[in-house]
Amino acid sequence: MSGTGQHFERVALIGLGLIGSSLGHAMKRGGLAGEIVGYARSAQTRARALEIGFVDRVEDTAGAAAEAADLVILCTPVGIVGQVAAEIAPYLKAGAILTDVGSVKASLGRDVGPCVPEGVHFIPGHPIAGTEQSGPDAGFAHLFDGRWCILTPVPGTDPQAVEKLSRFWESCGSKIDHMEPQHHDLVLAITSHLPHLIAYNIVGTADDLETVTKSEVIKYSAGGFRDFTRLAASDPTMWRDVCLNNREAILEMLGRFSEDLAALQRAIRWGDGDGLFDLFTRTRDIRRSIIDAGQESAKPNFGRESDTSLK
Ligand code: NAP
Repeated sequence: MSGTGQHFERVALIGLGLIGSSLGHAMKRGGLAGEIVGYARSAQTRARALEIGFVDRVEDTAGAAAEAADLVILCTPVGIVGQVAAEIAPYLKAGAILTDVGSVKASLGRDVGPCVPEGVHFIPGHPIAGTEQSGPDAGFAHLFDGRWCILTPVPGTDPQAVEKLSRFWESCGSKIDHMEPQHHDLVLAITSHLPHLIAYNIVGTADDLETVTKSEVIKYSAGGFRDFTRLAASDPTMWRDVCLNNREAILEMLGRFSEDLAALQRAIRWGDGDGLFDLFTRTRDIRRSIIDAGQESAKPNFGRESDTSLK
């Protein structure tokens, strides 16, 4: 983690769910903001955020929260950021940095870019960190520790503003990478979006089965199924918006996935044991690389405690 201490006098968090609240906690941990102002759609979430204490103040409108802030972070679902950006645009102060945390980046240029007033630095971002939980109680200060945050500034963005935002994310615990928005969307389609869709699909398939009962699926889930249910429990609004806003890249990856699945099906049908063994060996190496890169625990069973009931 790079230096703690104040990076911005006032930070506005628009959206106070898992990512917004985690950012609030991370800022509090490092003393990164003089004041944190929050806004969420419901009065209930706003009150809860104050009660937990990861914001110093909440406002009843997004505009009032963003007013006079030096850094404004949009932490709402992707499908709504354009509308929120239009709402806060008249309140943004010259020299402020406007960023977001959305899981899709190319659509942001389309939806938010045109609303950004002259003199405001718009730098889209995406922390590659999360859980299947949502809401203001879901956040925690160390969510971003050791995880990548990808920034996708458009050419011509003030390098000093990019540097300032990078230092901020580093103080939240992240490592920084830069990418073209379209490339980000392609990379995330395979590393995040496709795995979630496969999980949603397999859990849906199990739910629809007639010959195996639902209670059997739940009872024997430790055989592998339950690891998919974690992803499949992710927020439906967030994932609907990801699918609708990263359509091309997701369809491309789904196409490749379907072809490879058909090949796997064929290998099983024809009893191609060597082919199956080779694939399973190759994929095992990928997991080792992820552990070596510090992006996963090397502990057996994802570090789950006291579980000897597997398989
Ligand atoms: P979340 O826990 O569901 O929180 C979403 C927040 O946005 C809530 O506070 C909600 O308010 C607020 N909101 C919804 N519509 C709004 C509107 N029209 N105006 C103002 N606020 C509104 O979601 P999250 O997991 O933090 O995700 C937020 C963003 O982070 C998404 O763009 C997602 O793609 C991205 N992201 C998520 C993850 C992850 O693992 N979850 C990881 C990286 C990035 P109410 O509580 O009042 O409804």
